Amino acid sequence: MKHFSKSKVIIVLGPPGSGKATQAELLAETLSLYHLETSEIIEKNFAIAKEGDFVKIGDKKYFISEEKKLRESGKWMSPPLIAFWVKNRIEALSKEGKGIVFSGSPKTLYEVKTIAPLLKKLYGISNVTLILLKQRPEVSIWRNRKRKICELMRHSILHTKETAKLKFCPLDGSKLIRREDSKPEVIKSKLNEFKERTLPVVDYLKEQGVKIKEINGEQSVADVFQDIFKAL
Ligand SMILES: [Zn+2]
Repeated sequence: MKHFSKSKVIIVLGPPGSGKATQAELLAETLSLYHLETSEIIEKNFAIAKEGDFVKIGDKKYFISEEKKLRESGKWMSPPLIAFWVKNRIEALSKEGKGIVFSGSPKTLYEVKTIAPLLKKLYGISNVTLILLKQRPEVSIWRNRKRKICELMRHSILHTKETAKLKFCPLDGSKLIRREDSKPEVIKSKLNEFKERTLPVVDYLKEQGVKIKEINGEQSVADVFQDIFKAL
């Protein structure tokens, strides 16, 4: 069982507000996988960056300050930079013999074309499963408007019946605050990007032989998790 968990890769994709991170967290705990969250990798790299810092990939320089501006306005950062950071993390995890659950990444064709061959090589394509959370756009908008994060670890708390009245993070007890990116125009832009850029990722992974499981993401967190678990 332990060996099985270690070699597994699960990718959880879905529109904004579909609870990707929450489900990935539950999968990580249940199956002893590492939860690879792109936003966490980005935040960490932003946090250690100094004024004028950049990353050179090929012959192009990616300035951290410019990437920060893109992210703050709800636009997507440069895919080569994200792919570079994520690739490094995957290689490190594989060396440690850890299985991975991704949430919200890879989100562009560029990223998936960098990452999929790596996963194929390190884990084998038959060990990769894609969980696609389905949610109508109006539900995304409504849930994002009400979404909160915790002050300490930036855990994202999805708005559901069970979490509506929460004031403190269930994981670490810190105060819950409103997310900065929960403005309606930012969410609409994210929804668009999801349709135009992430859905092609699903098609690409399908072509590569990755198993795809579609799950109704509009249910409660517990019910979504149960469906995912059954599908695996
Ligand atoms: Zn927390």
